[in-house]
Amino acid sequence: PMDKEKLASVAKIKVVVRKRPLNKKEIAKKEEDIITIEQASNCLTVHETKLKVDLTEYVERHDFVFDAVLDEDVSNDEVYRETVEPVVPAIFQRTKATCFAYGQTGSGKTFTMKPLPLKASHDILRLMNHAYRNQGFQLFFSFFEIYGGKLFDLLNERKKLLMREDGKQKVCIVGLQEYRVTDVEMIRELIEKGNSTRSTGTTGANEESSRSHAILQLAIKRIVDGNESKPPRPIGKLSFIDLAGSERGADTTDNDKQTRIEGAEINKSLLALKECIRALDNDQTHIPFRGSKLTEVLRDSFIGDSRTVMISCISPSSGSCEHTLNTLRYADRVK
Ligand code: ADP
Ligand code: MG
Repeated sequence: PMDKEKLASVAKIKVVVRKRPLNKKEIAKKEEDIITIEQASNCLTVHETKLKVDLTEYVERHDFVFDAVLDEDVSNDEVYRETVEPVVPAIFQRTKATCFAYGQTGSGKTFTMKPLPLKASHDILRLMNHAYRNQGFQLFFSFFEIYGGKLFDLLNERKKLLMREDGKQKVCIVGLQEYRVTDVEMIRELIEKGNSTRSTGTTGANEESSRSHAILQLAIKRIVDGNESKPPRPIGKLSFIDLAGSERGADTTDNDKQTRIEGAEINKSLLALKECIRALDNDQTHIPFRGSKLTEVLRDSFIGDSRTVMISCISPSSGSCEHTLNTLRYADRVK
């Protein structure tokens, strides 16, 4: 269990950057690693090669500081310890915690995100079976995506879902399948199922999934009056959001109309998300949820006692310099 004092010491907003290693393709193209990281001081530097007017090259340094910077040799276990682990006990105290993965397509968002809910549910179930034993807590799992501003259930053959507000600032996603889970193996299967159901169009899996936000939620509920036949009462929630590729927000001048519409929607949602997190950070009473479907869906995770972890994923390669700088500037503004 976690006491109030300890809970208060967990940062409300934490921004972490993760650099992945150069991949084979980048190495084959002789691209260079332009990112240096000083983990002890949380500093990250981008070394951008630029051209002078006389076409000679020079290197411009861009320095950033974040709450944590994770180098390419950092394991998924360490990523978990640095990001989600500290907020897990808080969800038993009515906290809503949300972990985002942000970055361009291919930067490592899904690689980073995939193991986190499994590790978190392992810890949640352990708390339920030990420290909170026999206290009527239950764990529920749901997984859906937002594609072109519409919601689809990833655990129910991409069934289209509608969102409703109940007037008490609570969001309800009508028809969303919620599974009660009692062991890690069930979670593993649900994650696999959901990931394999993510948007895969004619252009290939990564291409399409890069245009959707995947939202996986672990909800803690509690039995009312020791009565299992009554609907359990929602307590806290832990959400994992694998965001659409950040570069997709720039697809607003594409020749294909559908791509343009999707690009505009992604751009809107990433901007709205940034505004909401900033509003949270400043303890603003007005949080601009209405800016996008993504932020509307997450509305109840932004009110009350909330914790936000943003994991910004970056490629180390010179060829991705511009996208990487965009990602780091976004992360910098959220901080
Ligand atoms: P995204 O979801 O951002 O489009 P992925 O997570 O699919 O990117 O990663 C792209 C590729 O890079 C995948 O093949 C993945 O396995 C690999 N990759 C990503 N991050 C790492 C990492 N930290 N270490 C090793 N390989 C990685
Ligand atoms: Mg992905």
